[in-house]
Amino acid sequence: MKTRTSNRPALCWSMVNGSTCLCYECWSCRRKMKYHTKEIAKTKAYRARKRTNTLITEYHCRFCGLFHIGHVGRKY
Ligand SMILES: [Zn+2]
Ligand SMILES: [Zn+2]
Repeated sequence: MKTRTSNRPALCWSMVNGSTCLCYECWSCRRKMKYHTKEIAKTKAYRARKRTNTLITEYHCRFCGLFHIGHVGRKY
């Protein structure tokens, strides 16, 4: 099955051989703030939500093992 809709690799190279990877997950992980606890992320998400009046929530990142905040329904 070929996927031509994405301009980023579907395969995560950092998982395969540790090289630089621009898949959605790595990309979003790299460019985001990392929070060490869910509580901190939650507070930040709450403030960001109030400030921007958009749906921002905290989530656990399986790539770095830390927490990020992001828009609901969006992965990055
Ligand atoms: Zn990746
Ligand atoms: Zn991450």
